[in-house]
Amino acid sequence: MDSIKRNVLLNPGPSTTTDTVKYAQVVPDICPREKDFGGLMKGLREDLVKIVHGSLERYTSVLFCGSGTINIDVVINSLLPEGKKVLVINNGAYSTRAVEICQYYGLPHIDLNFPVDQIPDLGQIEDVLKKNPNIGLVHTTHNETGTGLLNPIREIGALVHKYGAIFTVDTTSTYAMRPINIEEDNIDFCMASAQKGLMAFTGLSFIVGNRSIIEASKDYPKRSYYCNLYMQYDFFERTGEMHFTPPVQTIYAAIQALKEYWAEGEEAKWARHTRVFNAINAGLDELGFKQVIKPEWRTGLVSTAIYPDDPNWSFEKVHDYCYDRGFTIYPGKISATNTFRLCALGAIDEADIKDFFVVFKEALKTTGVQTPVNYKK
Ligand SMILES: *Cc1c(COP(=O)(O)O)cnc(C)c1O
Repeated sequence: MDSIKRNVLLNPGPSTTTDTVKYAQVVPDICPREKDFGGLMKGLREDLVKIVHGSLERYTSVLFCGSGTINIDVVINSLLPEGKKVLVINNGAYSTRAVEICQYYGLPHIDLNFPVDQIPDLGQIEDVLKKNPNIGLVHTTHNETGTGLLNPIREIGALVHKYGAIFTVDTTSTYAMRPINIEEDNIDFCMASAQKGLMAFTGLSFIVGNRSIIEASKDYPKRSYYCNLYMQYDFFERTGEMHFTPPVQTIYAAIQALKEYWAEGEEAKWARHTRVFNAINAGLDELGFKQVIKPEWRTGLVSTAIYPDDPNWSFEKVHDYCYDRGFTIYPGKISATNTFRLCALGAIDEADIKDFFVVFKEALKTTGVQTPVNYKK
């Protein structure tokens, strides 16, 4: 096995993968309708439920071929009963995506906005639920990847259930990193994509959720053909297969990534991501960078730094300098403030961050940015 050039990706996914996961894609050609392949997917589906500590009787996972956004599309269009409304608790770019999905399907919805650097107000959420008994589905994002803010999903979920609605949570950027317990966290449906916490590849996305709610959704309005949750679930249950062609090689890589996930262990993996995150913050602090999210509200996976007020600062130039040396940094996703992000996803550790800051400091120096960096106010 030749080793492949190792890049340290500090963008919010796809993340750095191990060579063993990369090579797991190189397999003999196989038709995915063969029993051998179906058997692989059964184990994979069960593992995906176990990662969030769900019981296999109550919870199941349904796979889709697509990037992570397909999951948001699927849960929203498939799980809203006739005559009901969606409530999106929106404090960032990814929840805004859910609002746009409601708009595209023409679904009645409430876009409950909060500032991007604030956790949502539970009293306000309860007020909206109380005044709108026709809310059937509430959606929010666990880690708002655009900023790195952690939303209080357990508390929101308790309110959602008190008012009898379904709670769908976009956990794409926490799943298989920050520990989740689907039942204790009051989640009915969560979701992710193989290229983030699992440290595998884009093309395989999955929804983990409550089996009886999926079964009840059989009679809900059908708003999409390819992206209908019940149809895909039912096909899996009857045949063990994806309804349409699965991303075959990507699935082999995801299975290898799961082996590596269990070998590392939930706790040790979260401790590693935390080490990486702390090293990123220490590096940013040392250089004087200000961040958008206050420490106690950070998920522990994404740091969002504000551009310094230095005439020589150029994200492009710093990015290119780092990229040429094997480190990828990423722009922010907040319209009002110019930011960049450094993320703790992937098969990386503290030593990679130390190496990164050597290069990052050189980049600032060669481009003429003063350190510690300056801010006008
Ligand atoms: C990455 C991510 C997604 C999926 O984005 P794609 O580009 O479709 O893969 C969805 N939600 C969150 C919170 C994410 O971080």
